[in-house]
Amino acid sequence: MHLIGELSAVVATALFIFALYWMNDPKTARHGVVAGVSGMLVAVLATWIQPEIIHHTWVVGAIAAGFLVGVPLSRVPLTAVPQRTALSHAFGGLAAGLVGAAEYFLWLGQRSGGAVTVEMTHFRMSALAAEVILGFLTFTGSLMAAGKLQEVRWIPQRPVTYPGQNVVNIGVLAIAVALGVAVALHPGAPWAGQAFLAIAALALIFGVLLIIPIGGADMPTVISILNAYAGLSAVAMGFVLDSKLLVTAGALDGSSGLILSIIMCRAMNRSFTNVLFGAFGKAQPAIAAGEQKEWKQETVEGAAQLLEQARNVVIIPGYGMAVAQAQHKVRELYDALTKRGIDVKFAIHPVAGRMPGHMNVLLAEANIPYSALVEMDEINPEMPQTDVALVVGANDVVNPAARYAKNTPIYGMPIIDADKAKTVLAVKRSKNPGFAGIDNELYVQDNTWMLFGDAKAVLGDLVKQFAGAGIHG
Ligand code: NDP
Repeated sequence: MHLIGELSAVVATALFIFALYWMNDPKTARHGVVAGVSGMLVAVLATWIQPEIIHHTWVVGAIAAGFLVGVPLSRVPLTAVPQRTALSHAFGGLAAGLVGAAEYFLWLGQRSGGAVTVEMTHFRMSALAAEVILGFLTFTGSLMAAGKLQEVRWIPQRPVTYPGQNVVNIGVLAIAVALGVAVALHPGAPWAGQAFLAIAALALIFGVLLIIPIGGADMPTVISILNAYAGLSAVAMGFVLDSKLLVTAGALDGSSGLILSIIMCRAMNRSFTNVLFGAFGKAQPAIAAGEQKEWKQETVEGAAQLLEQARNVVIIPGYGMAVAQAQHKVRELYDALTKRGIDVKFAIHPVAGRMPGHMNVLLAEANIPYSALVEMDEINPEMPQTDVALVVGANDVVNPAARYAKNTPIYGMPIIDADKAKTVLAVKRSKNPGFAGIDNELYVQDNTWMLFGDAKAVLGDLVKQFAGAGIHG
């Protein structure tokens, strides 16, 4: 039985590694998901068959509860995936924290009854304290992050800052760590039980304090940092429970979360410390540029003519395409244009939308050939030779203010040079700013024409122009 458990752990670990490897490419990403799910199934079964597990009804009950919560969570729209992911991390953190607390108090109980089954070494107790601190701070931190992303009314979106905030935050964490060291040195001391509870409480408070100074726009990056913390707490739990599988799975989780955070910070030209302490948020002043200029509107017929006459078109999708679920209409337009011999490419900004790869996933769902998707660095040199840049629900990622407006939160973020195209057609519903809350002069520059409306409806009308009376192929 033990050998099967060990072998299953190796199989599950291999499946987790393949899952991450296959996630690297949209063509193999589905295999990655299947490998990840299978790995988790093998891991659960391998744990379940361990001889120590005797209360099977509890396991069945826990799995049923997991299904009850997990199935509705899996049905959220793609635009809500960042907050859904935050909730998953919250559950992971809570599980780690509770298992750690249960392990310690079980040992304490056994000790007072004189029937200790596992020795509480300094190393094991240190791992337990680390598990509880990381697990509980991930729990409340992730809940706060999910609330901010969901724009829950009683959680302020804007960064909440006050003088001495970093000192308070670091102080709370330092006290929790100091208590952790004390308990690790004297796990059986008369005060150790209360100290352990204080560690848990301080970690829960620290999770909230960590997130309140961070604005909504940085939240997806913070979520992936919290992912790394959840992974590390699982590693600590692996040492506590003597489970190699938990150690390796947690390490994979932690390192992939950290790498993702670094990639996102690079794409937004922000440093790690800037994200954690910088108060990047929505409450920034709008820039003055463009305020005097007029928005020019184009009709669908006029836009179709412009596209028809173009030799090359670059479509720049953003969050608005995801909100409108316009990817299938984008595909129809792509087909109509390429059928007429027009060269059509998609410019993909690394943080367009609300999570990394957001645009790639949507365009792949609409079966747009992957070869038509071009990364920002590759497409930018081509923009000055582009006849029409068609911006579909993108805003911050095409905002030229990122190049020079030092007082804005997007300053320094690399953008797609839509403004350099010969003509710009921009689809959005209103004159409202994008996620970072700043005006965009692209929309009011001389060669830009607005197509106001929901992206799905506007693109649908454009497609009709090509299919019906308007434009003939
Ligand atoms: P933005 O949020 O800047 O802009 C989206 C635009 O879409 C809005 O101006 C909105 O205008 C328009 N829109 C919304 N709904 C619709 C609709 N139904 N039809 C047509 N238009 C619509 O998105 P971007 O993709 O340009 O930029 C992403 C932002 O998110 C950046 O600030 C980035 O830093 C941030 N971010 C992204 C992360 C990622 O990993 N992807 C991570 C962290 C942050 P209107 O309301 O007028 O329609």
